[in-house]
Amino acid sequence: MKKKIAILGSTGSIGTQALEVVSEQHEFLEVEVLTANSNSDLLIKQALQYKPNHVVIADESKYEEVKNALDPHDIKVFAGSKAIEELMDITEAEIVLTAMVGYSGLKPTIRAIENKKKIALANKETLVVAGELITELCVKNRVDLIPVDSEHSAIFQCLVGEQMNTLDKVILTASGGPFRGKKRNELMEVTRAQALKHPNWSMGAKITIDSATLMNKGLEVIEAKWLFGIEADKIEVVVHPQSIIHSMVEFNDGSIKAQMGLPDMKLPIHYAFFFPQRVSSEFKRMSFSDINQLTFEQPDKETFRNLGLAYEALAQGGNMACILNAANEIAVEAFLQDKIKFLHIAEINEKCMQQVTHISKPSLQDYVETDMESRRFALSLLS
Ligand code: NDP
Ligand code: MG
Repeated sequence: MKKKIAILGSTGSIGTQALEVVSEQHEFLEVEVLTANSNSDLLIKQALQYKPNHVVIADESKYEEVKNALDPHDIKVFAGSKAIEELMDITEAEIVLTAMVGYSGLKPTIRAIENKKKIALANKETLVVAGELITELCVKNRVDLIPVDSEHSAIFQCLVGEQMNTLDKVILTASGGPFRGKKRNELMEVTRAQALKHPNWSMGAKITIDSATLMNKGLEVIEAKWLFGIEADKIEVVVHPQSIIHSMVEFNDGSIKAQMGLPDMKLPIHYAFFFPQRVSSEFKRMSFSDINQLTFEQPDKETFRNLGLAYEALAQGGNMACILNAANEIAVEAFLQDKIKFLHIAEINEKCMQQVTHISKPSLQDYVETDMESRRFALSLLS
């Protein structure tokens, strides 16, 4: 029996790599659902190749085009963001890979959990926005949340067979991004193109900017708290520019385990699809003779303020990480449109955290309203 997979955000960086994994493992995996925001050309091409039962294009203006192309092939097409959620009620997929970007992943992930789908979680913002709610929902529905983010996959792999009460800390590695070593005065005028040049990973635009500001590592600290149920003082970040060690865990006897490999997102995607089995792959192997050195340094929290803001959001709890996430989505988009400077991103995030209404025990509706309020406030800071 093949495992049936839904890929939410199939046209993106993670989505397309997930489809490569499906191609390589076609004896064991098949695609049940593909979704995209507006890239209809690629979505149609993927659907014709992988023959899912259901396809969703969030942008309703593209519906006719996608439907006309896929109807003759017996592929059902839906449109609109709501349709992605609703599809979770009817699809036979057993694994849902959440590879949409930002807050848009939240509601479909909730719906997938309610339908007892196993979640391969790439969309870290879901846990940043509503980690408490999502983890409670997973427990209630007995659903596994398998991390796809490379650092969290590394930690997850290091923890297999261990008892959580022996864990002293987790150590997230960070590449440092394209501006590692730079100071604030050198970052005043950096351009969009410079920020989009990540040294080790090729990813979607939003996460690439987040990597340059260290927001990505901040989001990952919050993601780690919820995935592994550990407090912020047990989550450390170390800069490791070669991106070979994907992360580490330290136990109460002082022993440290690390998971290593070449920087290739296909490996954690493949691992999440097959967990708890390990299945052989043809991925390029790492050779120690090609690696001269592995180096480590402390993150520069003065220059890259977003990392500190993430720890601050965890300390304040409630909806604070949701406020930070929404502000950051607006700020990153504005930076990508050349409306603000690089250093303004963290300034906008910080102002939103100070001004948007803090709620200590938010409901889902509170998160939805917080997201809107924080976006509105962030937008007001742009003009
Ligand atoms: P991309 O921007 O490359 O792809 C995003 C995907 O989501 C696309 O298919 C896009 O469709 C779709 N999408 C975007 N917005 C919406 C929306 N509002 N409604 C429905 N669909 C939408 O992102 P990445 O693949 O880089 O990242 C995806 C997630 O995975 C992010 O949360 C990121 O943080 C996380 N991640 C990514 C890594 C990477 O290596 N790329 C590594 C670790 C985590 P369309 O193409 O039509 O716009
Ligand atoms: Mg990561």
